[in-house]
Amino acid sequence: MPRKLAAGNWKMNGLAADLAQIDALLRDHMPSTAEVLICPPATLIAAMAARAHGTALQVGAQDCHTAATGAHTGDIAAPMLADAGASHVILGHSERRADHGEGSALVAAKARAAHTAGLVALICIGETEAQRDAGQTLAVVTEQLRESLPEAATAASTVIAYEPVWAIGTGRTPSIEQIAEVHDTLRAALPDPEIALLYGGSVKPSNAAEIFAIGNVDGALVGGASLKAADFGAIIAALDASR
Ligand code: PEP
Repeated sequence: MPRKLAAGNWKMNGLAADLAQIDALLRDHMPSTAEVLICPPATLIAAMAARAHGTALQVGAQDCHTAATGAHTGDIAAPMLADAGASHVILGHSERRADHGEGSALVAAKARAAHTAGLVALICIGETEAQRDAGQTLAVVTEQLRESLPEAATAASTVIAYEPVWAIGTGRTPSIEQIAEVHDTLRAALPDPEIALLYGGSVKPSNAAEIFAIGNVDGALVGGASLKAADFGAIIAALDASR
């Protein structure tokens, strides 16, 4: 059975003072039977990793370059993230696909770079609202999975997050049946069935338990509700109580 994972994506939020949320998370909501990961902005990775040292909390990044070094002003390479204390890197988030025109082939190349640096690649896929309305959801996510996943991906090196674009930051979520349909389809398409499959999109303390009760949902990628220790802690507790 795949490992359970509660992953937080702080996006472009967080100053040094917000590391107090990590202290509260560690004090009040951990340890957990599930894996727990927070992906802060790159500016906070080293400080957060220092805070998490010796605990079960893992720290990740939100993007990496395909190259290990070079003339790429403003970019960050996977070995640099590992050097700063990251264990994971989110790749192909819909905000990067939309804001930076990142396609699945680039996501796969970044995942290969992450794997080479010893990072777990947390690869995001998901349909737009127009694609869902057109009945294309399963075809879209299956194609994104196939094109974004490196050939050598295993459960140890890779996590997949199904994140419907229209559910991110909107307070809207698919129905339980819709999430189950996508996750069942993705599970069957994975090269390694032990790869963890997360759901992401407006997960909060009030809906976490019903989402974690869905077969083939191994955890969540959480944006807004990961910023406060109390909210993320409640989601971790719901994941611990599932299965
Ligand atoms: C995300 O950023 O990956 C996300 C799922 O955001 P939110 O939980 O805020 O919808």
